[in-house]
Amino acid sequence: MQSTAMCWGFGVDDGWFDIVWDLSSKLEPLIQKFIDENPNVEMHPRASQVKEKFGGLRFYMTHTSDEISDLIGKAEALSYKTCENCGNPGEERSNGWISTRCDDCQKAWEDGQWKEIQKMIKKHDL
Ligand SMILES: [Zn+2]
Repeated sequence: MQSTAMCWGFGVDDGWFDIVWDLSSKLEPLIQKFIDENPNVEMHPRASQVKEKFGGLRFYMTHTSDEISDLIGKAEALSYKTCENCGNPGEERSNGWISTRCDDCQKAWEDGQWKEIQKMIKKHDL
């Protein structure tokens, strides 16, 4: 793995690891094909950024082709249905910002928020 996201680290949570991994392994041969077909081009396609935005995966490449953007589009669509925390089927939640979570992770997050609020109330004697 030289060209894709594996050596770049992730700007996304564990739940989407499989999506990014799967995408990267599918991109690898396409990138190799591009390099074979364009031996004189110095800028080879590679992942420039992987991150979460508005509840969905964003995967940026330095160069794309139709095949590459098709694969990225599919992975991004899948991310909207996958809990970014644990990888189980999830949906978009709005908690002030949008994230994609399953029921369990959403509940855990809400419980955590509620505990923080209670702590604040105690601390400030509200
Ligand atoms: Zn989850």
